[in-house]
Amino acid sequence: MAKQQQIQLAKRPEGMPTDENFNFVETAIPSPEKGEVLLKTLYLSVDPYMRGRMTSAKSYIAPFQIDEAINGGVIAEVIESKSDSFKEGDVVIGHLGWQEYSVAADKDIRKVDPEAAPVSTHLGVLGMPGLTAYFGLLDIGQPKEGETVVVSGAAGAVGSVVGQIAKIKGCRVVGIAGSDEKVDYITNTLGFDEGINYKTSNVYKSLKEACPDGIDVYYENVGGEIGDAAISLLNKFARIPVCGAISSYNKKEQDLGPRVQTKLIKSSALMKGFVVADYADRYQEGAESLGKWLKEGQLTYEETIVEGFNRIPDAFLGLFEGKNLGKQIVKVADPDIAVLPHN
Ligand code: NDP
Repeated sequence: MAKQQQIQLAKRPEGMPTDENFNFVETAIPSPEKGEVLLKTLYLSVDPYMRGRMTSAKSYIAPFQIDEAINGGVIAEVIESKSDSFKEGDVVIGHLGWQEYSVAADKDIRKVDPEAAPVSTHLGVLGMPGLTAYFGLLDIGQPKEGETVVVSGAAGAVGSVVGQIAKIKGCRVVGIAGSDEKVDYITNTLGFDEGINYKTSNVYKSLKEACPDGIDVYYENVGGEIGDAAISLLNKFARIPVCGAISSYNKKEQDLGPRVQTKLIKSSALMKGFVVADYADRYQEGAESLGKWLKEGQLTYEETIVEGFNRIPDAFLGLFEGKNLGKQIVKVADPDIAVLPHN
């Protein structure tokens, strides 16, 4: 029986995960039954939220199980079909295991069009991170022309889209990121008005200078002291979509900071947490808008693609060191049949 590699959760991490938390296991390539397809993994997404799933804590999504495959967003090629809906060579997206081959029920995957855009974009700007940016900013942030929008994690998959949509909406946009290269990218390539390197500057002082009229929307991706600084500069009726808090994901102790209640009261601000799945019934709207902006050139994107199945854990861990510019993706294999004109 043909074999493949799979990556399982070996044990739950305390603090920053290491190689010891991942187990490479050889397993049999499964066979599809009626209504199923056999898929070859082409591109695989690593995302910060996966750190939360490595713990056993109750959350909006079930934890990964020890000695079971880790899973997430995957772009794959149909290499054997026992479904009327798919044929060999179709390229699909699904929530699949960290493994070279998967069997999926046809109802759990959907086709992507390799002609329309590089297929990897469905893991980034046109996929979950793009939708997260779109709904968090527009539905909770409600940016208005002329307002100041600040986004942290600004050069990453979500943050880079947030800032660009805020520019489309006519806002002044300030991004916070972890290197001069990233600041250069968000200002000179993405068109943000200002960028702050939080590793080399006093974030509060730099934000104050960059936001002379205060902050109307703070799109929170990182939490910690960066969030504290932004919340100190809120305008009346400011909005804070709380998307992520990556600075605390690997902390062993609870991450305590300044209490925000008085600041929220004084500015009559709205601070609202969300997960992108809250907007599942509006994904079509979000995908259409993102696709349109991309086609029109109003939206651009970057991907950091590492190649090789064995590099998946490194790519994941790199998210917590800021190794990625734009969306972090792993290229696992070339397709057997499918033609990917953009890749
Ligand atoms: P990114 O592409 O932004 O990658 C993570 C980035 O976080 C790194 O590149 C790094 O950039 C930054 N980072 C890492 N550690 C720290 C730290 N200690 N302090 C500040 N910044 C840090 O990831 P995503 O765009 O996929 O996700 C961004 C955020 O959005 C995450 O918090 C994630 O959990 C959240 N998210 C939430 C969703 C939801 O439904 N609510 C859905 C998707 C994502 P740098 O070099 O700038 O430090």
